[in-house]
Amino acid sequence: MYAALLSAYGTRKWWPADTAFEVVLGAFLTQATAWRSVERSIANLRQAGLLTVQGIRRISEEALRQPIRPSGFVVRKAASIKSFVQFLDDRYAGSLDRMAQQPTAELRAQLLALPGVGPETADAILLYALGHPVFVVDEYLRRVVTRHQLLPANARYAELQALGDGAIAGATREETARHANELHALIVEVGKRHCGVAPRCQGCPLQPYLPAGDLKPLY
Ligand code: SF4
Repeated sequence: MYAALLSAYGTRKWWPADTAFEVVLGAFLTQATAWRSVERSIANLRQAGLLTVQGIRRISEEALRQPIRPSGFVVRKAASIKSFVQFLDDRYAGSLDRMAQQPTAELRAQLLALPGVGPETADAILLYALGHPVFVVDEYLRRVVTRHQLLPANARYAELQALGDGAIAGATREETARHANELHALIVEVGKRHCGVAPRCQGCPLQPYLPAGDLKPLY
């Protein structure tokens, strides 16, 4: 299925950001929000000179709510972003490069201990900002996996991640990270184009992999 998606869509060159810190901001802002809204928030942050660790460090939590307003949930998201920068300052002297040197499991545990960071946000930061070979699970993946009857609809995050891990394993850490990056981006693409709330299977690159029977919207 990975090969079919890659053949249909090509490499996606993810994450859509110019810097690792912009990835971190996007990972928080995209929680429960469409990417179009995140783009408007990122544009506001760019215009205000706030797309850097220094920028977020100097702005107050209350003031940060304004530029990120298009992404919604501004009280929680502003607090989460400020907490992340505080953590980065305290543990890694404000350096994402220094943070990236730590073992994956240790970093994941540190991230999950921060407010507003769940498994998807932690893994998106690990993979796309820090280059660690971690597969990111999202709702698009859950839909594809469920509709193709690879796992039940109530499968836990770790089960979905284990399924992805089997598809991305490479000969080196870098190769695995590259596959993790690509496969997640391709799943998002097929989700946007075909596998939304109501599946549009006609013409979908994954249609040949469907189990027999009718598909219904899942949620
Ligand atoms: S749209 Fe249909 S064929 Fe495509 S991934 Fe979803 S369930 Fe599979």
